[in-house]
Amino acid sequence: MLNHDEAHYLAQVTHYAQTTVAPLAAKWSLGETPTEAFYVTAAAMGLHALELPVHAGGLGHGFALKAAVCETLAAADFGIAMSLINTHNVAKHLAHSDNAEVRQTYLPRLLIQAKTACTALTEPGAGSDFAAIQTRAFRCDGGWRLNGEKAWIINARHASLAIVYAQCAEPGNRDGIAAFLVDLEDAACERSTSATAVNQTSIATGGFTLRDYFAPDAHCLMPAGQAFRAILSELNGARIYVAAMCVGMLDSAVAHVHAYGQRRQTFGGNLLSHQAWRLELAKATTDLAAARSLVHQATQQMDAGEDAQLLAAQAKVFTVQTCRHHLPKLLHAMGAEGLAPTHPVARHVAGAQMAGLTDGSDEMLLERIAHLSRSRDA
Ligand SMILES: Cc1cc2nc3c(=O)[nH]c(=O)nc-3n(C[C@H](O)[C@H](O)[C@H](O)COP(=O)(O)OP(=O)(O)OC[C@H]3O[C@@H](n4cnc5c(N)ncnc54)[C@H](O)[C@@H]3O)c2cc1C
Repeated sequence: MLNHDEAHYLAQVTHYAQTTVAPLAAKWSLGETPTEAFYVTAAAMGLHALELPVHAGGLGHGFALKAAVCETLAAADFGIAMSLINTHNVAKHLAHSDNAEVRQTYLPRLLIQAKTACTALTEPGAGSDFAAIQTRAFRCDGGWRLNGEKAWIINARHASLAIVYAQCAEPGNRDGIAAFLVDLEDAACERSTSATAVNQTSIATGGFTLRDYFAPDAHCLMPAGQAFRAILSELNGARIYVAAMCVGMLDSAVAHVHAYGQRRQTFGGNLLSHQAWRLELAKATTDLAAARSLVHQATQQMDAGEDAQLLAAQAKVFTVQTCRHHLPKLLHAMGAEGLAPTHPVARHVAGAQMAGLTDGSDEMLLERIAHLSRSRDA
C-alpha cells in the first residue's frame, strides 16, 4: 500500500518514535511537557505536513501513510500522536483554503514556526450532541463576532490557531453551524486547562473562552450549511487513524510484555514458560491481528476515495474495545513493575480510554453502524 518513498519515510518516523518519543513519553507521564524544540523537530520531519500538497509546502502523501505514522507514533505515546495529527489536520485545512491571506499568513506558523493548532467542537455542555453547541457567531461589519467556551480540546494548552465551530443561527440548528479560523494568541481568547487524573501532558487537552472575538469574513473556513456535513465526513478519516493508533498501542504492549516475560523469573522459570501466563499474550496477539486487518481494510477504502463510513466506525469501535479488554490484562501480566513510568502499558491503558471518546464515542459509533448496516440491507 505504501510506495517506496513512503515506506522509507515511515521507517524514519518509526526510528524517531522509538528512540526519541518513547523515552520522552515516560517524562511526560510524570508531568513534564513537550518542549518547543520537540515541536520544531517534529515539524522539520514533516509531521505537520504529511497530506498537504507539495506546492503548499507539504509532503503530498496519501492517507495510508498518515494512518501508518499514527500507528507508529501512538506505539510510543498516544498523546503526542494525537497532538501532532491535530496540528496537521488544521494545516491541511489552511493549505486548501481559497483565500491567499489565510494560506500565506497562517500556514507558515504551523509548518515553519512549528506552532501547534487544534479543532474545537466540544464545549462544557455539549460533546456527543454536537448540534447543541452554544458558541455563537453573530454577523458584524466585515465579519463575525464569536462568543463562547470550548473544552477538552487537544493542543488547546499551547495551540496558536484553532478551527472553531460556532452556531450562526438558533442553538440546535445543524445547518447554522459554521467553522472559523481563530487566532488563539488574540486578546479576546482566554485559555483554560482540561486536567485529567492521569498525566497526559503531551495531548495537552484544554479549553478557551472567546469574548467578542472578531473573525473577518475570509476566516470563515466553512460556512453555515457546509460545516456540519464536512466534519462528519472528516471524522471517517479520524476514526481510522485513531483505530490505527489503538493497533499501535496494543502492538507495543504485546511486544513489551513478551520481552518482560522472557526476563522475569518466577517459580524456577521465566514468566513465558508458564502456560497460564502466556495464554493472555496469545489472546491479545490474535485480537491484534484481527484489529490490524480491519484497520487495513478501512484504510484501503479511504485511500481509494470510497465511502468508508461503516468500516471506519467498525474499525474504531473494535480496536478501542480490543485495547480496553487486553491492555489492563497485559498490565497485570507485568506485576507491580508494569506501573513504573519507564514501561508504556499503563500509559496505553489511559490512551485507550481517551481514544474511546475522541472522534465519536463507542455508543455514537455503534448507533452509526446499526444505521448504516440497516440501510445497506434495505
Ligand atoms: C482526550 C480527549 C481529547 C479530546 N479532543 C477533542 C478535540 O480535539 N476537539 C473536540 O472538539 N473535542 C475533543 N474531545 C471531546 C470529545 O469529542 C467528547 O468527549 C465526546 O464527544 C463525548 O462527549 P462528552 O465527553 O461531552 O460526553 P457526553 O456527550 O456527555 O456523553 C457521556 C457518555 O454518554 C454516552 N452517550 C451520550 N449520549 C448518548 C446516547 N444518546 N445514547 C447512549 N449513550 C450516550 C457517550 O458515549 C459517553 O460515553 C476530546 C475528549 C478527550 C477525552
